[in-house]
Amino acid sequence: MELSNRYPRFITPDFRPYDVIEISNITRSIVCRHVKRVEERKYTDFYVAGVYRGIVTGCVVGCNLRCFFCWSPISRDFPERFGEFYSSTKVAEILCNLAKHHRIRKARLSCGEPTICPQHLIEVLEYIEKCRDIELFILETNGIIMGIDESIVKKISNYSKVYVRVSLKAGRPEKFEERTGARREFFELPFRAIKYLLRHGVKFHVAAMTDPRIMSVDERRELINKLASIDPWLAQWLEEEDIDPYRTTLFRLRKAGVKLKW
Ligand code: SF4
Repeated sequence: MELSNRYPRFITPDFRPYDVIEISNITRSIVCRHVKRVEERKYTDFYVAGVYRGIVTGCVVGCNLRCFFCWSPISRDFPERFGEFYSSTKVAEILCNLAKHHRIRKARLSCGEPTICPQHLIEVLEYIEKCRDIELFILETNGIIMGIDESIVKKISNYSKVYVRVSLKAGRPEKFEERTGARREFFELPFRAIKYLLRHGVKFHVAAMTDPRIMSVDERRELINKLASIDPWLAQWLEEEDIDPYRTTLFRLRKAGVKLKW
């Protein structure tokens, strides 16, 4: 597939911030396809990851943000070049079999943004609900799509095994733009997603990239206050993230001209 030069890959010093709704739609057109009314999605791998003390993982292709600290495989930047299409039944079957084989009760989709193909995701959740070997599905998300479309959150609330982890990237609009590449006017979307999750009674917590090498004390305080103004519990249980020196992270930091001490 030929993509125009307007499709952002990674942040560079002369990067032009983009419309996250447009990039979500373009990414969806690359990594999702409909086959007889079934939405298939591209994946590069299925495996057991060590995080969460072991979790069965489907590695999806594609994201709508371009965080310069992202560790995801390079398929995030070049989604048209990587991965194979899988139906939701096939994905659920693979995850369920891996869970059974390794006696691990948790599953997730990682490496990109799972909500980019919403129909596919909901169908995976539907099948996971019926899998006796998986007790918990951790839905890791940047909250952009959920903030745009409340109906996705409402659908997710139907599944008892789902636990959402919303990962915030900044405490100020201009820093959101600087770190993710998406224009600052979209900064509020993940916070809107959080309000929808509360409204629909979904189990979740908030994580944030508050690494002091890229986030000032004042910005961190603003972020925590903003969460507390929605619900004090959100600030109390905030999971704070640091940047790890994965190869892909180092590549993206270098491209963005961001120098960190390790
Ligand atoms: S850190 Fe998450 S939200 Fe940001 S680009 Fe990577 S996969 Fe997407």
